[in-house]
Amino acid sequence: MLDIQAIREDFPLLSHTVHDKPLIYFDNAATTQKPRQVVEKIENGYYNVNANVHRGVHFLSQAATEAHENARKTVQYFLHARSSNEIIFTRGTTESINLIASSFTEGFMQPGDEVIISTMEHHSNIVPWQLQAARKGIALKVIPMNEKGELDIIAYQTLFSEKTRLVSVAHVSNVLGTVNPVREMIDIAHSQGVPVLIDGAQSVPHIQVDVQALDADFYTFSAHKIYGPTGIGVLYGKEEWLDKLPPYQGGGEMIATVTFDKTVFNELPYKFEAGTPDYIGSTALAEALDYVSRLGITEIAAYENELLQYATDKMQSIEGMRIFGQAIHKSGVISFLVGSIHPYDMGMLLDRLGIAVRTGHHCAQPLMQRLGIEGTVRASFSFYNTKKEIDTFIEGIERVRKMF
Ligand code: PLP
Repeated sequence: MLDIQAIREDFPLLSHTVHDKPLIYFDNAATTQKPRQVVEKIENGYYNVNANVHRGVHFLSQAATEAHENARKTVQYFLHARSSNEIIFTRGTTESINLIASSFTEGFMQPGDEVIISTMEHHSNIVPWQLQAARKGIALKVIPMNEKGELDIIAYQTLFSEKTRLVSVAHVSNVLGTVNPVREMIDIAHSQGVPVLIDGAQSVPHIQVDVQALDADFYTFSAHKIYGPTGIGVLYGKEEWLDKLPPYQGGGEMIATVTFDKTVFNELPYKFEAGTPDYIGSTALAEALDYVSRLGITEIAAYENELLQYATDKMQSIEGMRIFGQAIHKSGVISFLVGSIHPYDMGMLLDRLGIAVRTGHHCAQPLMQRLGIEGTVRASFSFYNTKKEIDTFIEGIERVRKMF
């Protein structure tokens, strides 16, 4: 059992008021609030352990390097990766996907080769592939979904051809909350000899992820969505793949030796980490992962699921309510529209009541086209939210509905 009141005290921003109302923060899929422990880690890093990492012989550089490399191990254990060489620090999910799109296409794809993505991808798992399509003439195939917002696994199987080189799909949809059956999807891809990249931006903060049990070839997430700092994230990749892929960016850190004629690249993971890494961010990310681990990801998932059920049940009784995403396996995200009320109007009026929700296309315009709408209102939950907040949210929706 989570002690929600005690947890909330770790998050100073949650006790703020907005428009003279207690803040209700239901925009966790966009970014999460930060516990004191994470903010203090950043402060301590800059005040006490700040020096550029790697290659420094002096005390501070060694201390900073050790903290940074320990953070990598924390991520390794959190994802249950085989080795810390498989953990690449990036700027976030977006950069991780761009890295793979760029390096994988350069290393392993020819014009006409195909990548399979799905209808419910975030733009960051569509546009990087389109950039490569324009540069190298690769093609995209899209897995369709049913009315409940579940991927059509039979159709998925028919998308494979001898030209399929990679599957790249979200573990959890940021709009529908659907938890995709990625283990099964990976098995299907592997049976065709095709590797898989999983966008874990919305899964790692909410459900247990074990990259070895999933047998994912690549897996990505962003620190800021799991109570860590902005500007840093992770790309997990199987060592056998990362070894074979060409580097993404050139510069310091990623080299072993350089002459004007030739450069020998550094070993993993540094081959993919050009330039000074965010060594303060990495330690803050590790602190956030430790925080989540102390609460227990299973306990978090159970509690957030309880919030999801509670909110869904109450919302369904509101007149004119349409919930987008009714998958059997769902995480704590609810996208909805009420009658003909524009999502921006709903979002702005809820904001006047202190309730932060997101409105619009949620960086998933192709999904909106599939749903035949321009956008939704989205409430997304965290372990620090409460049923009482959901009650206030429901009352707020009712108030807005009656105004129209
Ligand atoms: N993928 C999904 C499913 C997301 O929800 C998001 C962010 O909302 C991203 C990728 C991009 O994450 P970031 O902006 O942290 O790189």
